[in-house]
Amino acid sequence: MKNREIAAMFNDIADMLEIKDESPFRITAYRRAARSLEGLTEDIAAVAERDELEEIPGVGKGIGEKIHEFLKTGTSAYYEELRKQLPAGITTLMTVPEVGPKTAMLLHEKLGISSIEDLERASKDGLVRKLPRMGAKTEENILKGIALIRRSKERLPIGAVLPLAREIVAALSNLKEVKQISVAGSLRRMKETIGDIDILVTSSKPEKVMEVFTTLPRVRQVLARGTTRSSVILDTGIQADVRVVEPDAFGAALQYFTGSKDHNVRVREKAVKRDLKINEYGVFRVKNDRRIAGKTEEEVYATVGLPWIPPEIREAQGEVELAERGKLPKLVDLKDIRGDLQMHTRWSDGSDTIEAMAKAAKELGYEYIAITDHSQSLKFVGGVTIEELREHIKMARRASDKVGITVLMGTECDILPDGRLDYPDDVLRELDVVVVSVHSRFRMSEEEMTARIIKVLENPHVHILGHPTGRLLGSREAYAVNIDRLIDAARRTKTALEINASPQRLDLSDMHARMARERGVPLVISTDAHTRYQLRYMEYGVAIARRAWLEPKHVLNALPLNKFMEWVRER
Ligand SMILES: [Zn+2]
Repeated sequence: MKNREIAAMFNDIADMLEIKDESPFRITAYRRAARSLEGLTEDIAAVAERDELEEIPGVGKGIGEKIHEFLKTGTSAYYEELRKQLPAGITTLMTVPEVGPKTAMLLHEKLGISSIEDLERASKDGLVRKLPRMGAKTEENILKGIALIRRSKERLPIGAVLPLAREIVAALSNLKEVKQISVAGSLRRMKETIGDIDILVTSSKPEKVMEVFTTLPRVRQVLARGTTRSSVILDTGIQADVRVVEPDAFGAALQYFTGSKDHNVRVREKAVKRDLKINEYGVFRVKNDRRIAGKTEEEVYATVGLPWIPPEIREAQGEVELAERGKLPKLVDLKDIRGDLQMHTRWSDGSDTIEAMAKAAKELGYEYIAITDHSQSLKFVGGVTIEELREHIKMARRASDKVGITVLMGTECDILPDGRLDYPDDVLRELDVVVVSVHSRFRMSEEEMTARIIKVLENPHVHILGHPTGRLLGSREAYAVNIDRLIDAARRTKTALEINASPQRLDLSDMHARMARERGVPLVISTDAHTRYQLRYMEYGVAIARRAWLEPKHVLNALPLNKFMEWVRER
């Protein structure tokens, strides 16, 4: 229901008229209408549809027209015009969800505030609460509003964005008015951080789609609402845009809005050579402006002599040239993955039993998993002692038999600061898979850290280096390590490097995974799951692998069990 939004707009109009010292009669009229709308229990859109707006107390012809206009466009020209007439800075302040025109004026006049930064400072200093009609609560809400605006300008880790985008896509897909729908932008390319969510739709009734989109429960602020494009800010602070495009242009729009910009430049260069023009509306012949393609992406690429290119590699890193020669890599896919080689259970800091993890992995269709709880020195996460490890091995074998999936016994063995491992060799020898990782003393010099890690790669019982750079997306920088030398050492010692699929890590990054592939280092994609649900993180790791141009042959856990174990024995 738009009742409250329209009421808020009328209140804002009244406030602005008051600031402008307009006739009290008009001001009162808007306030009355706002009050009526706030008290209305029926959806205003339904009343408008019956053409009965003027039966609402306080709604005359003029106000009724503004309601119709708002229902159609998401705003009113009169309202926008008034906003433009206010002093500069005031409208900026009004972008803060809690601040209307009157408050903005008050802040401006009493405290000289004309920017968001001023407002934040004054709120933090407790000056705002001292103004008439304000209080500590308002001040707090203003600060929250500012934080929301700031977050909407930052990039968020993909793990925080993809589930939201899927929620929106699911909600819109349910509408019978929606024919085609897809995410576009950096999210479709599966970049590790995302600036905003772009969704494209074809629809027989765009108004309906936009109404549902702009009133989804997670929407905190509607920035714009129209029939071809609407923008909102969601509760996590990220902006989401929905565009409605013509069915004949869906492929062209999808290609255009998926990007990357650099990739699209390459594709357009090819079009120019063929006297074609490509834009979001289609592919056109330059000489007569006739559209020759646009319905599907395949069609668009075909007009410039290219096969369809997977979104994850549309980064202008040589993919167009390879596509031209029909030599695109056959990228690894989620369904190629046959096992998961890093996960934690209740034996250390995980939440599930070995058996529960095994069952969940079997449901995902895997052939094998490795249980890799933390080693003994990591006491704060319940690292497994050597005595416990013997028992642990038995439990894994039992789960293997019971669930009917191969449960390999492993460890995520700590790399101690001096480059020794946290278990002696005779213990490591008893395990099927040994993952080694750094979890302490992150602040060493690059020289020391590189030496520390390379030393353990020389150990013949070690198979995989876990989360090789230690970064936590958005919260901890990678430790200083010479990735170049690390990759060389991995190749020399035939140690696999992990692509840690946990959305908090994504480590190796796509760029480093690509370097490793180019130099022939084997890679694994592991979830580092700490609950059975996190086994689903595999898709993030596969996305990194695809962005790094990995094919199934580059990924050890795409091998069937016997081949994987062959690699383990050779190592
Ligand atoms: Zn770890």
